[in-house]
Amino acid sequence: MDKSPNHQITKSPNKNVRVRFAPSPTGPLHIGGLRTALYNYLFAKKMGGKMILRIEDTDQSRYVEGAEEYIHEALEWCGIRLDEGPKQGGKFAPYRQSERKSMYMEYAQNLVDNGFAYYAFDTPEELEAMRQRLHAAKVASPQYNTITRNTMKNSITLPEDEVKTRIANQPYVIRLKVPRKEEIRFNDLVRGWVLVHSSAIDDKVLMKSDGMPTYHLANVVDDHLMKITHVIRGEEWLPSTPLHVLLYKYLGWENTMPEFVHLPLLLRPDGNGKLSKRDAEKYGFPIYPIEWKSPKNSKPEKGFRESGYLPEAVINFLAFLGWNPGTQQELFTLKELIKAFSIERIGKSGAKFDIEKAKWYNQQYLRSNPDKELAQYLLEAINSQSPAKGGAKPIECTPTKAATIVSIMKERVTFPNDFWKEAEYFFIAPSSYDQQIANKKWPSKIVDVIADYKEALASIDNFNAETAKRTLTEIIEKHKSKTCSDPEYSGEESNPKSQIKMGLVMQALRFVITGKDAGPDLMSIIQVIGNKETISRIDYALKVRE
Ligand code: GLU
Repeated sequence: MDKSPNHQITKSPNKNVRVRFAPSPTGPLHIGGLRTALYNYLFAKKMGGKMILRIEDTDQSRYVEGAEEYIHEALEWCGIRLDEGPKQGGKFAPYRQSERKSMYMEYAQNLVDNGFAYYAFDTPEELEAMRQRLHAAKVASPQYNTITRNTMKNSITLPEDEVKTRIANQPYVIRLKVPRKEEIRFNDLVRGWVLVHSSAIDDKVLMKSDGMPTYHLANVVDDHLMKITHVIRGEEWLPSTPLHVLLYKYLGWENTMPEFVHLPLLLRPDGNGKLSKRDAEKYGFPIYPIEWKSPKNSKPEKGFRESGYLPEAVINFLAFLGWNPGTQQELFTLKELIKAFSIERIGKSGAKFDIEKAKWYNQQYLRSNPDKELAQYLLEAINSQSPAKGGAKPIECTPTKAATIVSIMKERVTFPNDFWKEAEYFFIAPSSYDQQIANKKWPSKIVDVIADYKEALASIDNFNAETAKRTLTEIIEKHKSKTCSDPEYSGEESNPKSQIKMGLVMQALRFVITGKDAGPDLMSIIQVIGNKETISRIDYALKVRE
């Protein structure tokens, strides 16, 4: 199969590569939009080319205050750096389409002059009447197209002088004159050759009556003027591409037409359909990279950032939604992603959005940080506990102690604020116990062992995890020999020794000390909270048990 001219430049570095991320500022950037930005960035950097941000704000009715600022902040948070854009400037400025408004008419006019586009004067009522007519004639999707245009009010059907008067006196649009019978083909670097028959395309509006271009015209004109070599965008834009291909042809730009790459859809966690905001709400995960404060709604919506995801984890997770390196390696820094990325390894089929995988990445990146840094999360959480939960006294914690705690906890946390949630008992003794867990983990046969342990701790020299553990072993051994000779344990209990197994005692002790039924190494916890506190917690637990 023959390849289009730019294909080879996806293989070896080429600093002429220019890609653009072209969002419309109609609201916050969706996580799928961020993936599009990421793939553009990875490809640009891999090739040694340029990454451009272009704001496509020609549809003024859908413009949302703050959306552009949001896009900048979200990209920045992820480490996606722009070479050119509205803020960065560049040779092809301006990078906001609304500021380029005066540029587009020339191209629309050129299309009209060459017979590839025409003026249309139909009122909304006339358009609606056409639709009704076609519906009545059982046409499934009525369109303004190569057939219906002949029944409408436009520069094809009206006499020349009337067209002139109408242009001077009433609103009009410019429509593309789609050919009647033509095969339109283009090469998508992920999907291969795509073939569409022109009869499937309607006469799209190129210039609106407010003098603004539509997405289609502005997008093609700007990609051409900005010398874009590769258009990398979501699959939802695939149906627009044949129309763009026609525009490139009619504007005489066929030879420099960019390569097209349409990224696979992001699917719902169950794989049934496109991922939507509603799914995110249903499954309880964020859909925006960072917090979004809508100008209309006072309640901000949390993003991945506010939910405790690290940007490295989000980037790594997104990179794998539609691409794979072809190896077993799963953890990639942004730099490594740039090195490994290739368009050839982008998949065609939709990628399931598995939030558990995102959490897994977060765990990996979180625990790879030095304890000293992780300790900051804990210290911040402690500082924000006001008034202190355990009483009037504020909680005290030195950075060294915080570092020790995070080193004990880090295999068990997914998000930074889990450090406090999971480690609260290092600072605050349990004041009540869950009765259901108590029934299972704190049986009466263990009470004496724990009570004896408390006594032994009081006289322990050189208290630490090791000596605390040794002491516990000794106590258990003592009890084992006692229960063997105790007549109370004869009868149905065939193996009384099993009643005071180390595991059972540890479970009870953990419950007494932390109020929990699971957690990291208990003796390390005991060492951090100290001998005195351990004794006092056992004391309390024994008392409330009576
Ligand atoms: N403005 C379009 C969007 O909002 C851009 C599509 C494209 O990349 O061509 O996604």
